[in-house]
Amino acid sequence: MPIDRRGFVAGSVGLVASAVGAVSETQAKPTAAITSQQHRRIATEEAWSFPAHLDALAALAQGNWHNLDVEVINPAGAQATESLYVNLMDTHGRLREMDRLGIDVQILSLTAPGVQLLRPDRAVALAELANDRLAEVVRSAPDRFGGLASFAPQDPAAAAREMERAVRKLGLNGFIVNSHTDNEYLDQQKFWPILEAAEALDRPLYIHPRCPADTMAAPFRGTRLQSAIWGFAVETGTHLMRMITAGVFDRFPKLQVIIGHMGENIPFHLWRSDHWFERRRAAYGSSLTPSEVMKRNILITTSGVEHGPALRYAIEVLGEDRIMWAIDYPYEAMEPSVSFMNKVEISEKQRAAIFHGTAQRAFHLPLPH
Ligand code: MN
Repeated sequence: MPIDRRGFVAGSVGLVASAVGAVSETQAKPTAAITSQQHRRIATEEAWSFPAHLDALAALAQGNWHNLDVEVINPAGAQATESLYVNLMDTHGRLREMDRLGIDVQILSLTAPGVQLLRPDRAVALAELANDRLAEVVRSAPDRFGGLASFAPQDPAAAAREMERAVRKLGLNGFIVNSHTDNEYLDQQKFWPILEAAEALDRPLYIHPRCPADTMAAPFRGTRLQSAIWGFAVETGTHLMRMITAGVFDRFPKLQVIIGHMGENIPFHLWRSDHWFERRRAAYGSSLTPSEVMKRNILITTSGVEHGPALRYAIEVLGEDRIMWAIDYPYEAMEPSVSFMNKVEISEKQRAAIFHGTAQRAFHLPLPH
């Protein structure tokens, strides 16, 4: 039985039903800017987790590993009472806040750094478990949630098999990877089975940030610059520029890759990237310029960026059919993100595409009834 936004009945959402949502049930009514809803709202980079995953990360944080990602992991794992960790697991609280703000759908994905810090055999097993759990959440409210499947790049053949299972058996809507794996990037040939699977299954691959690789960590140490303030964009933007210039999108011409945070700085740099790509064409493996790839194979999301000039610039450079709305919940609050998208000065055609149209197509979402 599908559950719609207004008629959701608590009790059927499987996991962590006992978790206490940090979202208060007595919260104030949202402003008129939010309740006047013209467009269906689909948020596309929304983090989620479950106890076995948070406990696996916490075990890493208790070790003696000087990795930038490990430094930002909460050592208490699923036992943490901080609202961030509770909100990652609390499906009921999430739906209540979605109801309050008129958010129709969230596309959920296992929070960073996913399974990529684990030993290959543990990573393969945990990705499978995560996808099973995520599919249960989606099935509990299929009109309200979609899901992006995890996989373990540590074992590319197993990753490709899991990607196929996640789409064909579990019905998930795409894939998520958290940038580098053991300091290696997806343009490297060993990872091609993953790109081949995403293309063959016709589902997009979201390259979500993590902290800069160990191989470029030194300037970030002791600066608190390793995460959202700067390091995420350096790491993830570099990852995608490697794929673009190496010719990944010549080899996999239908592959669709998503990057968040208004494009991880790539759109703003695009003219200069094209300019120097043209001047040094022989140095690169791609027949396509960076901007040709961006307009054909890349989708960006607004996650964590509530800035009108940046959005209008991205629309002008890439077009609204390449842009999707995202909140980045629970790392960002839902309400300011909805409010921003409702009020930002763009045309209603552009707002409709970014709020739902582009995502509807990219993730093969069923139309609302
Ligand atoms: Mn995120």
